[in-house]
Amino acid sequence: MTQVADELRDIIKGTIDGLIGFVDTEVVPLEQHYREILSNERRLFGDDGRLVPEIREARDGVRRKSAKAGYWAAFGPESIGGGGLPAPVSVYLLEAVYRKYGAGRLMIGFSNGFLTSPLLGGFVDGPSHMFANANETIKADIVPSLLAGEKTTCFGATEPDAGSDLWNLKTKARKVGDEWVINGTKQWITNSPYADYAVVFAVTDEEKYAKRNMFDSGITTFIVDTKLPGVDTNTIFPIMGHVSSDCGNVIMEDVKVKDDYILGNIGQGLMTAMAGISEGRLAIAGAMLGLAEWALDKSLAYAKERKTFGRALADHQAIQWMLADSAIEIFNMKYATLRTAELVHQYPTTGRLPIKEISIAKAYAVEACQAICDRAIQIHGAMGLSSEMGLEEAFRIARTLRIPDGTGEMQRRTIAGQLLRGDTVF
Ligand SMILES: Cc1cc2nc3c(=O)[nH]c(=O)nc-3n(C[C@H](O)[C@H](O)[C@H](O)COP(=O)(O)OP(=O)(O)OC[C@H]3O[C@@H](n4cnc5c(N)ncnc54)[C@H](O)[C@@H]3O)c2cc1C
Repeated sequence: MTQVADELRDIIKGTIDGLIGFVDTEVVPLEQHYREILSNERRLFGDDGRLVPEIREARDGVRRKSAKAGYWAAFGPESIGGGGLPAPVSVYLLEAVYRKYGAGRLMIGFSNGFLTSPLLGGFVDGPSHMFANANETIKADIVPSLLAGEKTTCFGATEPDAGSDLWNLKTKARKVGDEWVINGTKQWITNSPYADYAVVFAVTDEEKYAKRNMFDSGITTFIVDTKLPGVDTNTIFPIMGHVSSDCGNVIMEDVKVKDDYILGNIGQGLMTAMAGISEGRLAIAGAMLGLAEWALDKSLAYAKERKTFGRALADHQAIQWMLADSAIEIFNMKYATLRTAELVHQYPTTGRLPIKEISIAKAYAVEACQAICDRAIQIHGAMGLSSEMGLEEAFRIARTLRIPDGTGEMQRRTIAGQLLRGDTVF
């Protein structure tokens, strides 16, 4: 443990034990009940690409119970009633649950973990740190239902022509009287098929936007009720190896939103977006750490048990090297992720935002996790490819996560930018 994590030892242990106990008593029986549907994606999704009603209800029920038990909003800021978990605790929590349940259980939005995905809200669906900027109307009208897990959000930044490059947004909001009229299309938006509210980033000041200043971007953040006239969330995209997914479009045509539903300051929306994305990057790193450990645990068990040429696989040097390579990467992942979480935790006192470290942790964790899952599949031979083991799914998840919340190339761009600005402290 790092020094900060050592100080937080009791909170870490209590939170992990509590959440694992919650999954075992509240979620596992439900998964058993719906096993037939959950294990067959053709039955899991309807023709419209959405989860079938009984699974949606079960999933909503898990979210509400998780909220009551104090987990769903655990990552949310205390200023709005969230749990305000310190970043190192969040990382340990994600590591622990992903290590225990692995693929097929807790994979937010990308897998069969449809009953366990609503355990912990993040910036793509729940009361995240972005809401620390909420005004009194948003705090009164929207935040309580998010904290209770009654309603969910989605995060609408990406567009057909603006993914890595958010300086090419076409979504615009124009002020007419006391309302804003929003037009544009957001694409690849996690949870958009189910979200009650979309957190939408729209250009409100073309002149400022053209200057490309992150802090004063000319982009404003709106909370858009997805039931408003002009909002269409019907398109859902199947993603790598799945019949459907949680990702879709948010299309807005002359959608009218009141001033009160602006999150944060007008024209400073990119900072709100970055607050959400940074939280997501660290969460991904924590989850990938746990998933990689889960894959190594499985590999070790199989290597000891399976025999070839009269010996356990574990006795062959080629297998030992694969195990050792995975251990090297896990150790590095763990240090990078925890050290970054510690720097995030210390930010209020140091004033140093660990921009390059967040990018290093996210990029390294997903790439290492993919390599570790690949080795785990290799060690398991044909069994590794079978969907029964969950390893091929873990591989797909890690591969998928190299794209959202900033691709590997964008993380490297950020890291290099920081280095060239003189941030060379490690
Ligand atoms: C599963 C999933 C969930 C997602 N969820 C959300 C969500 O909830 N909300 C949301 O707003 N978005 C979401 N996204 C979108 C995601 O953020 C974008 O896909 C991502 O930012 C990359 O944008 P793009 O797909 O348009 O690729 P592009 O930006 O078109 O990039 C294509 C390729 O070129 C590389 N590239 C681009 N520019 C450069 C450069 N300057 N130098 C070197 N290489 C470069 C990229 O790294 C990438 O490899 C999600 C995506 C996925 C796959």
